[in-house]
Amino acid sequence: MKKKFFFKYPFYFIVPTLLISTILALLFFSTLKIEESIEKKVFKISTSDIFSITNNSAIYIRSLLKESNNYPHDIKADKLLQHKIDNSLKTLITPNIKYAYLIHRDERGIFRFLGDASSSEEKAIIGQKLDIDSPEWLDIYTKNEPLLIQHSMLQQLSMTYLIPIMYQNHVELILAIDFSIQKIEEIKQIIKMIQRAILTVMVIIFIILLISIVQAMRFRSIRKTAFTDKLTNVYNRNYLQKYEDFINLDNYIMATLDIDYFKKVNDSYGHDVGDSILKQVANRILLTVRNNEDIVIRYGGEEFLILAKIQRDGNLDALNVIERVFSTIQENKFYISFDESIAITVSIGVNLVPQKSRTFSEAFKLTDIALYNAKNKGRNTIVIYDENENTQNACMSLNEIKDAIEENRILCYYQKIVDTQTQQLSHYEALLRIIDKNGSIITPDKILPSIKGTFILRNITKEVLKICHEQLRKNSAIVININLNPHDIIDEAILSILQNYAQSKNIATRMGLEIVETEDITQNSNAKENIFMLKQLGYKIFIDDFGSGYSNFNYLSEIRPDYIKIDGTIIQKILDDKLSFLLVKNIVSFAKEAQIKVIAEYVSDEMIYKKIKSLEIEYAQGFYFSIPAPLES
Ligand code: GH3
Ligand code: MG
Ligand code: MG
Repeated sequence: MKKKFFFKYPFYFIVPTLLISTILALLFFSTLKIEESIEKKVFKISTSDIFSITNNSAIYIRSLLKESNNYPHDIKADKLLQHKIDNSLKTLITPNIKYAYLIHRDERGIFRFLGDASSSEEKAIIGQKLDIDSPEWLDIYTKNEPLLIQHSMLQQLSMTYLIPIMYQNHVELILAIDFSIQKIEEIKQIIKMIQRAILTVMVIIFIILLISIVQAMRFRSIRKTAFTDKLTNVYNRNYLQKYEDFINLDNYIMATLDIDYFKKVNDSYGHDVGDSILKQVANRILLTVRNNEDIVIRYGGEEFLILAKIQRDGNLDALNVIERVFSTIQENKFYISFDESIAITVSIGVNLVPQKSRTFSEAFKLTDIALYNAKNKGRNTIVIYDENENTQNACMSLNEIKDAIEENRILCYYQKIVDTQTQQLSHYEALLRIIDKNGSIITPDKILPSIKGTFILRNITKEVLKICHEQLRKNSAIVININLNPHDIIDEAILSILQNYAQSKNIATRMGLEIVETEDITQNSNAKENIFMLKQLGYKIFIDDFGSGYSNFNYLSEIRPDYIKIDGTIIQKILDDKLSFLLVKNIVSFAKEAQIKVIAEYVSDEMIYKKIKSLEIEYAQGFYFSIPAPLES
């Protein structure tokens, strides 16, 4: 568990280890100082005893000697005196004082023994030569006072202490002891051990520190790749998922940016060029936003979320950033090859007050509504989300729609489609409605924008299918058309429901499927196959909104739908607008050739009705015949 934590959050280990190693280093250096001062103190205490005892011995030996100008001669001649001197020297020997001896310097300058405290085997005989190991010894003859000589030995502190024995201001004899101070050795050992322990801990900590740093660097780079979009180098969806709860919306305005007609770029120049354009657009955005302040996330194929940081003096700066992003894209060229470029425009939705929303995703939804409005206004524009504008016209929130599904507040209104010859009911089109919490009936234009591209849309389709299936079972005389979204056609769950319904007799043939033609559908071979499969099962296929936006006669001949519904906006203009009239006329004549039946939508008055009848359109739908309403039993 601990290990895991360490590998996950190595940052947390770096600071404390650094702190601990600093403390240890200080401790280490202070031991050096302590060692020195303890040594001095102990030295002083230990030597003062030794010195005073030795001085006493020197005084005693001096008292044994007669007044004479030749001490060496006197001693050599007197065996009893030698014995007394040796005994006095022997009293000096302790565990600390190893050797005590009396010497003199002869006329040739050589030091020779006159007494020695050592035991018999080691004992120097009188007159034996002593080799001194340092010229320092000679200082005693000039200074005329005791002299301490330190020997630099590695393992222990050993010294020689010399006391002069004078005759008439002249150094005649020297009492010497060799000693070492055991206590200092012990203290030194202890301090060495402490130092070694500190060093070991420091090495261990240093290794941990090293591992932490390496680990932290690895962690950073892994995190960077996990949260960065490979193509564009901005943050990706994972970043949003992981951090959206931690982004403080008080500090940002939120904008969503979608490239206009990007599909055309892909279609005209290929996917690779599309990728390159995406990269260039992302680059432009990154160059325009403020480093380290604004956040850019690619949350969809060609959709970017920009969080622009609000400065203390209001959100104008942040909005400026978004406007600069917009204009820099508009003004720049985007390269499709080395020397060829195209212009790109984007639509941007801005939410200036994301902090008013309860959650990130709600703020995001409002931003997306603004983007949706920007697209609706013809693209290449910035739209700022306006609460007032959108409250009268507000879309239901995702949660409201989820609640409505759970609480069974989904229902259908039905609008008649009539035979233009007989003016008799031919089909119904089921139209989605939701009853909101206040009991108002909500229409699809306020439902679909918020669930576009989410799984909730699929759930809504399932609900509608269920409701209509129930109606068809209850009422064997009617035919009902259901609107399917392009994504429903490739959705396994929806397809299996439809396959299931087709098992019962007399259902599929009375259920029409209205599909809006979009590029997605026309280019998706699965979608085509599925449409054929549904036709085999007995379902009638209606191409919805034909003539608006994207229309493809070629596709009609591939799919061979049973009906096409001409888009209401064209029918509305059929009386006044020559082109609309011609368009309808052509669609009808094509359909006749192809044996596809035609339905006119938005037939709102008698004049339009007469006109479409004159064009031999087989079916009509619109307020002239009926408004959408619940089915009377
Ligand atoms: P508009 O936004 O103006 O409504 O039109 P559009 O054509 O840009 O809109 P739509 O959102 O329907 O299409 C986006 C297209 O972006 C669909 C897809 O082919 C393309 N796309 C998504 N991701 C990528 C990608 O990573 N690389 C490339 N080359 N194309 C992508
Ligand atoms: Mg898009
Ligand atoms: Mg787009």
